[in-house]
Amino acid sequence: MIKIIGDYHTHTIYSHGKGTIEDNVKAAINKGLKEIVISDHGPGHMFLVLIIKN
Ligand SMILES: [Zn+2]
Repeated sequence: MIKIIGDYHTHTIYSHGKGTIEDNVKAAINKGLKEIVISDHGPGHMFLVLIIKN
């Protein structure tokens, strides 16, 4: 069985997402995830990766 423990491609209002970093963390906690990655990207920053571990 595969258990999903993390979401490694999430976005915030700093690119094409809808929530803040805090919103993403709260959503991840609500889903029982242990890790998420904020992977915003855009013209000024192709890859900004922030790894948040529980
Ligand atoms: Zn993306």
